[in-house]
Amino acid sequence: MPAGRYAPSPSGSLHLGNLRTAILAWLFARHSGRDFLLRIEDLDRARSGAEQSQLADLRAIGLDWDGAPVRQSERVHLYERAVASLAADGLVYECFCSRKDIAEATRAPHPEPATPASPAGSPGSGPMTVLPPGSYPGTCRRLSGAERERRRRERAAALRIDAAAAAGRPEGPAPIHTVTDRLHGPVTAAVDDFVLRRNDGAFAYNLAVVVDDVAQGIDQVVRGDDLLSSTPRQDWLARLLAPRTSSPAPDTEYVHVPLVLNEAGQRLAKRDGAVTLEDLAALREGTPGVPDGGWSPGRVRDLLLGSLGLPAGDLRHALAHFDPDGVPRLPWTPPQTLAGPAGRAREKLRLPR
Ligand code: GLU
Repeated sequence: MPAGRYAPSPSGSLHLGNLRTAILAWLFARHSGRDFLLRIEDLDRARSGAEQSQLADLRAIGLDWDGAPVRQSERVHLYERAVASLAADGLVYECFCSRKDIAEATRAPHPEPATPASPAGSPGSGPMTVLPPGSYPGTCRRLSGAERERRRRERAAALRIDAAAAAGRPEGPAPIHTVTDRLHGPVTAAVDDFVLRRNDGAFAYNLAVVVDDVAQGIDQVVRGDDLLSSTPRQDWLARLLAPRTSSPAPDTEYVHVPLVLNEAGQRLAKRDGAVTLEDLAALREGTPGVPDGGWSPGRVRDLLLGSLGLPAGDLRHALAHFDPDGVPRLPWTPPQTLAGPAGRAREKLRLPR
């Protein structure tokens, strides 16, 4: 069954930006007749109680989902299996570099241009592209056995994909991969040897998200556009992994939606004021900007629907008016009183968040 998903990290309460993205993911999935799945991405930085409060907030604004939410912490065997399958083909290597090593190695202009190639064998597109800044330069790719042995004694290794080898050109440059986003059009990037498993043993976000999307049959990814730059490498990895689990080759629809920004034009964060359902509910009636009856979850839902040009009320009603091509292309900033002065007043009074 084709499916879309929302995949929150339970590191705290959902804010207006998270809730708006969740509504969009729900609208896109339901509009296209897909299932809508919820996945809790709790491999890292999970805060106790956050999952329950996030699910309660999503329900409070009217979202529903198919089946029980899955938790990444309960799917570690899948990530282990995926890395083992790549390693068995010699496509994984140990990396002993620290962040500092990588920063230093990449400070000099990177000499290695990348040329089109992809693990799926599809022709890459466009002119030569260099590795984007911050890409791993491959320092540990060809360490000798003895050198690896020596380094292991000094530092735990992270595991990286050997992207060039996976693309069938072990001595070649990084493969190039293009995805097409419904709002952003084609996005092309060089796929570097990104981390699959960190040196503290945790599976990396890029690996877990792809293993899950493939295993769960997700063919529509709607999320904030801050993740757009990770998408070519994720789609590339999905194409590499799918045949290994007898899953169909992914043909995923990507929709990277604009973020919600604070008044300073930065991505909204909890410190920006009353931006969670709980914060908003605590604002007293009579405070400027607070509607009669206060900020109930229904009012917050209506505010978010309004920001998407959709009518207030039940999400099913909004769905009937939803046009995937009419989604705003620009970021949205909540009315000043939500993210601005009200929040600063709380800050000044040192009210708990
Ligand atoms: N868990 C990620 C986040 O909360 C989202 C990952 C994704 O949608 O791929 O930012």
